Amino acid sequence: MQDYGQNVSEGDLERKARVAEILLAAARQLAEGLEPERVYERFQELLATVIPHDGLLVSSYDEVDDLIRCEYVWNEGNKVDPSTLPPLPLNRAGGGMQSRVIVSGESFLFNDVPRQVREREGEFYNLDPDGTLRKIPDAGPAATKAAMMVPVKHEGTVVGVVQLMTDQGEYAQEQVELFEGLVAQMGAAVRNARLQKERSRLEAAEEAARAVAAEREQAAQVLEAVGDGIFLLDRSGVVRLWNRAAELITGLRGAAVLERELRAAIPDWTELSQRIPVASGGARAVAVTLPVRIASRDLWLSFIAVDSAAGVIYAFRDLTSERRLEEEKSDLVATISHELRTPMTAVYGAATTLLHREGALDPQQRRQLLEVIEAEARRLAHITEEVLLTSQLDRDDLRIAHDTVDVAEIVRTTVEAMATRLSDPPLIELDIQADVGAASGDRDRIQQVVLNLLDNAVKYGGATGLAVRVGAENGVVCIAVTDRGPGIELADQERIFEKFYRADPQLAQAPAGTGLGLYISRELVTRMGGTLRVSSDPGEGATFAVRLPLAD
Ligand code: ADP
Repeated sequence: MQDYGQNVSEGDLERKARVAEILLAAARQLAEGLEPERVYERFQELLATVIPHDGLLVSSYDEVDDLIRCEYVWNEGNKVDPSTLPPLPLNRAGGGMQSRVIVSGESFLFNDVPRQVREREGEFYNLDPDGTLRKIPDAGPAATKAAMMVPVKHEGTVVGVVQLMTDQGEYAQEQVELFEGLVAQMGAAVRNARLQKERSRLEAAEEAARAVAAEREQAAQVLEAVGDGIFLLDRSGVVRLWNRAAELITGLRGAAVLERELRAAIPDWTELSQRIPVASGGARAVAVTLPVRIASRDLWLSFIAVDSAAGVIYAFRDLTSERRLEEEKSDLVATISHELRTPMTAVYGAATTLLHREGALDPQQRRQLLEVIEAEARRLAHITEEVLLTSQLDRDDLRIAHDTVDVAEIVRTTVEAMATRLSDPPLIELDIQADVGAASGDRDRIQQVVLNLLDNAVKYGGATGLAVRVGAENGVVCIAVTDRGPGIELADQERIFEKFYRADPQLAQAPAGTGLGLYISRELVTRMGGTLRVSSDPGEGATFAVRLPLAD
């Protein structure tokens, strides 16, 4: 180190111990994970307790652009904004004290600054209270009396310079050594703080990246989990996203749809898409419900579409069953009101006649009217019963017994009851196999089914040639009701078991009915563990066969 001062004294052991103590304290205080700016402040506070000073200037030197930049300025008790001081280019020729420290890597001590600065051609700067740097000779006699300048080193390279100034007294050599030690601590602390800050910044960036990834992942999971089908079509109509619900609703697997035009999977897509308004620019999307045919399935789908940077996002919901329910509801209302009207009109007419023209009626006429009322009231009760039963079946709210029942006996009594109930009973050929075992089922419900089949046979099959057979085969008891009527078209043979379905109801001579009888019958038989099927050659009559499991 070069010595420009006079008060240099030899350090004794005690002094060295004191210096070590201060440095240790400094190391502890500076290494507390502070912000770089706070390290300088702490450094200045610490310095103030051990080396008196009026000014402190910390500069960094950057090899890359060869500039010396002010990092921290403290003057006469005030912190000065370092950005107000312009960076200085390094002067390798030896001009400028900061440059000299950086180039030589040595500390300097000045105990007669004005004189020494004059000798050095005014290249020493003084700090004004307003933070400006001023060449001392230009400003006349300088306030600064003594100063020391120490390099900040990192792994042997000078990365900065720290300058300490005082208006009074002089600095001693021991103070320079202490100052060097503190500057080294400060340099290390700043580096650590910067590293720490950089690490936190990286950690924060990493955390943010992780959060974005998690959010994406979550969004993808949400897309997979939502009940609505979602797909994305790019500008050329190619499917870029097809979520799980879309697969479930349409039955089209992602693998079959993705990266292809949607038209390939949904032939009507071009026309359909024209009916779906695409919301853009934050406008509210409007849902439209459209019939969509996908691989021979007819669906009602409610679509909304939103424009996005990647293309158009479509979300859709399956309303097919709701539609069916709607249709069923309107079927119910239409059928029931139609079916109720006829018997009610008849009852009303007969009752009115009885009431207002009683005196004019002979006993036979009166009886006829009462018979009308009884028959139509029974029909009303029957319709009501059918509707209630259907709703119980829909709600799965019907108790079905699984008793051991004598089917032959049930069929026999039902046929007899039928014959007594009708004024003009048809001839029914009854053929009951001798050794028919007992079946498992619900006695009353079996009777109800047989009655319904007989009613239908009479209603649709005509009064002649009715046959009822009861037999056992392959572990089941079979009841077959055959008529010689017009039979049932092949296309209708399954449909007649649907709720409300009636073949040819528009025909004027079509008998009254709700279309619920066969639906109820099949549901009841199925719930007893059996089957109800029809076989018919149109024009040749029809056979309805109930099969029930044999009782164990
Ligand atoms: P409904 O008799 O009240 O119309 P069903 O469910 O009992 O209701 O019958 C449904 C339809 O099946 C009838 O409307 C009729 O078209 C047809 N059908 C039922 N039984 C016969 C039959 N034995 N011969 C011809 N058609 C029948």
